[in-house]
Amino acid sequence: MSLKLYNTKTRSKDEFKPLSKKKVGMYSCGPTVYSSAHIGNMRSFTMADILKRTLLFLGYDVKHVMNITDVGHLISETDQDKMEEAAKREKKSAQEIAQFYTDEFMNDMKELNLLPADVFPKATEHIEEQIELVKILEEKGLTYKISDGIYFDTSKFPEYGKLSGQKTEDKEEGARVAKNPEKKNISDFALWKFSPKDEQRQMEWESPWGIGFPGWHVECSAMSVKHLGQPFDIHTGAIDLIPVHHENEIAQSKAAYGQPLADWWIHGEFVVLGDDKMAKSDGNVVSLTDIKKQGFNPLSYRYLILNTHYRSPLTFTTEALEAAQNALFNIRNEVRDWNKPDHVDEKWLTQFKEKLEDDLNTPQALALMWEIIKSDHPSSMKAATLLHMDHVLGLQLDKWIAIPLEVPDEITKLAADRNAARDAKNFNLSDTLRQKIEDAGYLIEDTKKGTKITEK
Ligand SMILES: [Zn+2]
Repeated sequence: MSLKLYNTKTRSKDEFKPLSKKKVGMYSCGPTVYSSAHIGNMRSFTMADILKRTLLFLGYDVKHVMNITDVGHLISETDQDKMEEAAKREKKSAQEIAQFYTDEFMNDMKELNLLPADVFPKATEHIEEQIELVKILEEKGLTYKISDGIYFDTSKFPEYGKLSGQKTEDKEEGARVAKNPEKKNISDFALWKFSPKDEQRQMEWESPWGIGFPGWHVECSAMSVKHLGQPFDIHTGAIDLIPVHHENEIAQSKAAYGQPLADWWIHGEFVVLGDDKMAKSDGNVVSLTDIKKQGFNPLSYRYLILNTHYRSPLTFTTEALEAAQNALFNIRNEVRDWNKPDHVDEKWLTQFKEKLEDDLNTPQALALMWEIIKSDHPSSMKAATLLHMDHVLGLQLDKWIAIPLEVPDEITKLAADRNAARDAKNFNLSDTLRQKIEDAGYLIEDTKKGTKITEK
């Protein structure tokens, strides 16, 4: 078998063929750093991570670029810029806000065990490149100027709307974008915005058109061509980026350089918040920090993501996360007692590979992992095979496989006392002692081989 991926561009599962034999260029639309990334964002980045790890597992060289949007982009034509708003709200400079949330995002990535991108270009460090791109589009006669900025004329790019399958005429101007009567077409978008005359922005730059700042979409086009060339292989993002952001990236890039932007467009589905205590009233946003505050291990969220195919919506509830955490901790408890890894089982690895090659079917890959854990094959073989699979799954099993739990003496003593109480049929005392052990973070389990102590 070979790798098949669902390509939004063709709307089908196609055999993956990179532009050059074993090298893959991959671009992921990254975070906007004026607030915490929510778990939906992190799901999308985790999807990119699983794709990248799968490519590495299959022997490809991957160059991965993920942009950091540290210029606030206007979500509406009349609104304040989110970055400047956050700066005012938190009484910090826009630069401080961007740095704070960039650091937080990098930490979230680390905790979800996402491989860092090879390049994390920042929008503010690529202003020149963005201006250059707008100049090219201007020279080709594809732009026009209105009172608040320079716009891309989408009527001059006949392919506009192809990725999403939306025709420009059908497109309702969304509630998030206030109507701008000066725009020639509803789908036209800003390439360069002018700073308001009566206001000094924290983030603004000189340009051939006056002081202002780049439109949001332009950064991805300018930074991807700089770091990956054009076309490159894979562009990833969440599905909500398809109809506007990705259409706009494609329009600018292809119009400017005469080449497609990317061959493969891989989009991840949303996280849907179920009836949940973690959902806050202010816009129902849950971050990884919220998950940790509830006592969850961030890798439990990774497990939950793996357990849902990336093209299906993930319904997030505390119960679902609990189930994922239990599954993850059960794996840890199972693999601790194994013998040291020796050789892998090739048959299992082939099956694992086939599941990933089928449009990254991680729920089935997890199911296979469980099948292996439960099998009665030598544990040294199971250990070696799982460690190999974990290069893609990223559950950090190397920290648990064949690493026996060191139970503190006091817990061992409590367990012995509890067993003695149970044998004497003093069940009240044995329950009290069991509870004490649990409160200290351990579980005791009566097995055929005797009492087993595991971490909670
Ligand atoms: Zn983008």
